[in-house]
Amino acid sequence: MGILDEDVARVRAATDIVQVIGQHTQLRKVGQRWSGLCPFHNEKSPSFSVNGQEGLYYCFGCQKSGDVITFVREIEHLDFVAAVEWLAGRAGITLTYTDPDRGEGRKRKARLFEVMERSVDWYHRRLLEGSDAGPARAYLRSRGFDRAMVDEFKVGWAPDRWDELVKALRVPDAVLTDTGLGLRNKAGRQQDFFRGRVLFPIFDDQGRPVAFGGRKLPDTEGPKYQNSRENALYNKSATLYGLNWAKADIVQSNEVVVCEGYTDVIGFFRAGLPRAVATCGTALTEEHIRSLKRFTKRVVLAYDADDAGQNAAERLYAWEEKYEIEIHVIAMPPGSDPDELSRSAPEALVEAVRTAKPFLAFRVARVLDAADTSTPEGRARAAGAAIEVVREHPSPFMRDQYVMEVAGFCRVDEQQLREQLARAPRPKPNAEQRPKRRRDDGDPGPGFASASGGYVDDAPPIGDEHSPYSYDDDDLGGPPAPVQAAPIGDSAEVEALRLLVHRRSEIEAWLRPVLFADRRTRIAYEALSEAPDVAGALVGASPGLGAFLSRISVEETSSDTTDVIVRLLAEATARAIAGTEAEARRSEDPLAYSPIIGWLKLRLDELRGDEPSMESSPELLAWLDENSSEFS
Ligand code: ZN
Repeated sequence: MGILDEDVARVRAATDIVQVIGQHTQLRKVGQRWSGLCPFHNEKSPSFSVNGQEGLYYCFGCQKSGDVITFVREIEHLDFVAAVEWLAGRAGITLTYTDPDRGEGRKRKARLFEVMERSVDWYHRRLLEGSDAGPARAYLRSRGFDRAMVDEFKVGWAPDRWDELVKALRVPDAVLTDTGLGLRNKAGRQQDFFRGRVLFPIFDDQGRPVAFGGRKLPDTEGPKYQNSRENALYNKSATLYGLNWAKADIVQSNEVVVCEGYTDVIGFFRAGLPRAVATCGTALTEEHIRSLKRFTKRVVLAYDADDAGQNAAERLYAWEEKYEIEIHVIAMPPGSDPDELSRSAPEALVEAVRTAKPFLAFRVARVLDAADTSTPEGRARAAGAAIEVVREHPSPFMRDQYVMEVAGFCRVDEQQLREQLARAPRPKPNAEQRPKRRRDDGDPGPGFASASGGYVDDAPPIGDEHSPYSYDDDDLGGPPAPVQAAPIGDSAEVEALRLLVHRRSEIEAWLRPVLFADRRTRIAYEALSEAPDVAGALVGASPGLGAFLSRISVEETSSDTTDVIVRLLAEATARAIAGTEAEARRSEDPLAYSPIIGWLKLRLDELRGDEPSMESSPELLAWLDENSSEFS
């Protein structure tokens, strides 16, 4: 299932990684490689490196690494096949699919997308040029839209006629129904779906149009909003309006703002926060959260999440735990919405996002703000009411934090509040209680142990700019080392691997597995020596090994090859001496070992002398290689 390997290789060969990455960050040539600010994390000095020849990149800041396909996957948030398709489209290469159905399905979808794109353009031009679009243009101007925004969001106008779009499109009925653009009416004629509405095209996260949201003009008949029905391209509960435009800033700012309508999203863009998305006429779903989690862990709700009450709270807390996200809520000034505020007081909107509160803090503040805390009775009642909100949170640690806060604010005894929490009936049982029970069993919950479920693997530790190498033995798929693997460090072994990548012919003949004592460098050496180049070594490499290889591929070295070989030989010889001595002690005839130990010590002295001699090195290397199983 997927794309033919030959095609993937053709796409790789036809693509210049420096050019692709150069569209996301400015790259400067430094020696043989390219360097620039990392497009994946915020930084002021460049720690991102690209090896154009090998087609690899590595960031010393966030440790992101890979080849051009990985880069496109990460930056465009695509899966492997979609990333290869993206690059193939760019290079003008036609792909062959190993699964013919996939090819057919994609072809059919591509046709639907093409018709949607024509419709977006048609409606957009109609808004700009149509003599019947005057009221629509006036309405948009009154809502703070200028020409640039109308263009950016491809706003359109569906004329108040019944078949103008379908006449322009000239497509079969099936295409009209599959795109939701039209239908065949009772009179047996094709008819437009949208009539007399300002249209906001809805794109998927790859920027392909999947639906329209239609808003009626003021003082006209009909419901205020009318959206495309779900169809072959459009799944409401998985689609977020604006994600195609917002995703870059969401990643950059590590935050997404979720609002209720198209115009709210546009309002946030207008206010200088291009990281807003909207649900399209549905509540926030788990699919939405899954989709957003690919970009950020911080979700800021810009609508009244409190209105939905306890059910919404339970769902949001459950998602926070399940997806390891944090949900915050904006306190909007009363009676305002983001669209309106972006026009009247954009700085207030920015400030509201900046001061968004965690969901529980927001709910507790709501209760306390509404209470009369001027009297002891009022404060006691407020504390009691606030505790009922605190109760909804699944984490006992979080609950206790808020118990203390509420007690302080209302000037009541913490212990009494704790007793109230313990006393009152538990919330009604439901499926979502399972994770709570598990946590009560001793799991400290999120925020303590490094959480579960692949989180650690997904997120390499963000170290300082030049953190030591570390990839765990676990990454290599072998049995774990008995002791926690130490960072590989900047050893002669790593230096030798760098030389093997960058000046292969100088060192290749000298290297043997026995020279690599660290299991990780040895596996890297074996992968490199078996493949023609780094890209070849990356095929099938574990993520840890892949990152390690990518890193050394962007690290040039000016080391002298002889120096590195001498160091490697000396280290291996010292290990051989220790190993042989240990064997001698166990043996019944220790003296039999002394000639070889003596010979090895002599070689070691030569290697560690002021002027290391390489004279007997080939012989030494051959001995080490032959006897490696004895002591390594
Ligand atoms: Zn980075």
